[in-house]
Amino acid sequence: MTNLENMNPLNSYGFNQEHLAHMTQLDKASQLRPARVLSRNRNIYHLITEKGPVTGTLSGKYQYENELSFYPVVGDWVLVEIKEQLAVIQGLFPRKGKFSRKEAGQITNEQVLAANVDLIFIVTGLDSNFNLSRIQRYRTVALEGGAQPVLILNKADLCDDLEEKLEAVRSIAPEDPIHGVSTWTGEGLEALKDYLTEGKTVAFFGSSGVGKSSLTNALLQESVMATSSVSASHGKGRHTTTTAELILLPSGGCLIDTPGIREIQIWCHEDAVDTGFEDIATLAASCQFDNCKHQSEPGCAVKIALKIGTLSERHYTNYQNLKREAIFIEAKQRQKDRLSSRPEKKKKPRQKNYAADLDL
Ligand code: GDP
Ligand code: ZN
Repeated sequence: MTNLENMNPLNSYGFNQEHLAHMTQLDKASQLRPARVLSRNRNIYHLITEKGPVTGTLSGKYQYENELSFYPVVGDWVLVEIKEQLAVIQGLFPRKGKFSRKEAGQITNEQVLAANVDLIFIVTGLDSNFNLSRIQRYRTVALEGGAQPVLILNKADLCDDLEEKLEAVRSIAPEDPIHGVSTWTGEGLEALKDYLTEGKTVAFFGSSGVGKSSLTNALLQESVMATSSVSASHGKGRHTTTTAELILLPSGGCLIDTPGIREIQIWCHEDAVDTGFEDIATLAASCQFDNCKHQSEPGCAVKIALKIGTLSERHYTNYQNLKREAIFIEAKQRQKDRLSSRPEKKKKPRQKNYAADLDL
């Protein structure tokens, strides 16, 4: 470690000018210090502070005054008071973005899974997994969570028409960086390391089997070899896959790997689709009916744009497919929630269960 890193260990975790400005608003006599949440197990937090890793817990006052959705999660920045060896969490820095699972129409039951993620590596397999709608769905969720999507097409070794696939992805996401890679041959991996720079936080989206773990290991291993110590940075070394964790990469970037994030398929809700289709959302504001589905309703601005050719048929079809898929996923999720809730359903205990579910 260099001297600079010794002096500002939190910079590698993304501590920046905005956080500093937030600190200056505190009372001069304040004993509160900044920390980032590395993992959480119920009310026990694993935090990193300027002085290194500490165990933390939420103050009673914080629990009393805040909704569950404001309870800190992995990736959050918090204000702590150090008492003996324990950090007592007293405050939360404003979130730059967050990923949550929401029950339709019930904002109070929002379950926040991770916060302050800068980049989402959206991984797709260049085999039967390849699916443009799914990529589009993941990118809408990434954008909604305040993160920049980076599209990664893995298993290039299995693919004879990589250029065609890249072009197809480019057509649905012209603004996003796209990379064809193979964790088996190492093709394209070098370019991904450019994203893992000091202070940036990255997470992976992608179905099971696309190569997220292989990719993580490839990136970690190479970085570990290049700079020698991951474990020194927060004492735990390589991550386990069962608990949520924010891992410091030797390059200075951070990786968030949580079950919640891995299961992202189930919490891509219908409204998220609109984020990826701002043009259609803008048109929709001029539709005659507020709840217009842009199918056969009279006075539909989206249909008019289609007719006069200012909106492409392909883009519109993509939008409708995604909406259908998101509605289906939501219905499935609701069914799952219904099945898992007890018959003698009471409001309060259910919320408590939610908190338990948050053991990332
Ligand atoms: P995850 O579920 O997304 O974490 O995927 P894994 O990393 O566990 O990989 C799933 C399977 O895909 C494993 O059998 C890997 O060996 C295989 N795999 C991963 N990367 C590649 C690749 O670049 N090419 C090929 N052909 N297979 C790969
Ligand atoms: Zn309409």
